[in-house]
Amino acid sequence: MNIILLGPPGAGKGTQASKLVSDRGMVQLSTGDMLRAAVKAGSPVGLKAKAVMDAGELVSDDIVSGIIGEALDALPIDTGVIFDGYPRTEAQALSLDGLLADRHRKLDHVIELEVDEDALVERITGRFTCAKCGAGYHDTFLTPKVDGVCDSCGSTEFKRRPDDNEETVRTRMAEYRGKTAPILPIYEARGLVSRVDGMASMEAVSAAINAILGT
Ligand code: ADP
Ligand code: ADP
Ligand code: ZN
Repeated sequence: MNIILLGPPGAGKGTQASKLVSDRGMVQLSTGDMLRAAVKAGSPVGLKAKAVMDAGELVSDDIVSGIIGEALDALPIDTGVIFDGYPRTEAQALSLDGLLADRHRKLDHVIELEVDEDALVERITGRFTCAKCGAGYHDTFLTPKVDGVCDSCGSTEFKRRPDDNEETVRTRMAEYRGKTAPILPIYEARGLVSRVDGMASMEAVSAAINAILGT
């Protein structure tokens, strides 16, 4: 099964992808995570992407489609894939069609997480992750059970993304509205789109996604 999670920054794509990874053994391909790893490693892709990401704008279609192609090549064909944060433009959606067809994969579902823009700023500015295992948290909505200690791995180090500030979030939302939301009709025409209320609790969102994917 291959699915796309679509939604503006902070909609809950990463949170829900992680649940699908642990519940269903699917693999999460997050272009944001892959780009941040490239920036950290100082690779040629990272050097090109850093300033664009810091500004909240979109990295070039060629770069992101290239890294998705490489990531798919590293996976056994029967591994279910969750595309998290990709595609984000019409050009990327068309590239993904080719990447999947070349690898004898097909797209099963496109799930759109619908959220109020006002709520997104609060979600994004409160977001933090475990520096060791990457588990996601939120200052208000999902705090570690023991303050300052990761539930998953026990680490006491956490990090926040440099682009998770109110100003950059506004740019990222505008990019979503202008370039990403317009790809939905492509998938609607193929009957692949389901919508989920992303304002519900994390558990309710997860249940709604599971109902769409079936058992
Ligand atoms: P995305 O990957 O779409 O940018 P995340 O999954 O990282 O979004 O979620 C953004 C922040 O909001 C995180 O701190 C996460 O813990 C929190 N969050 C995710 N889903 C919900 C939800 N349904 N209700 C409240 N907070 C949520
Ligand atoms: P969020 O979780 O807030 O939706 P991501 O982690 O997916 O954000 O992306 C962070 C940044 O990485 C984006 O603002 C953009 O600069 C870059 N990026 C990630 N995925 C893509 C993509 N598919 N196309 C272009 N840029 C991307
Ligand atoms: Zn951890």
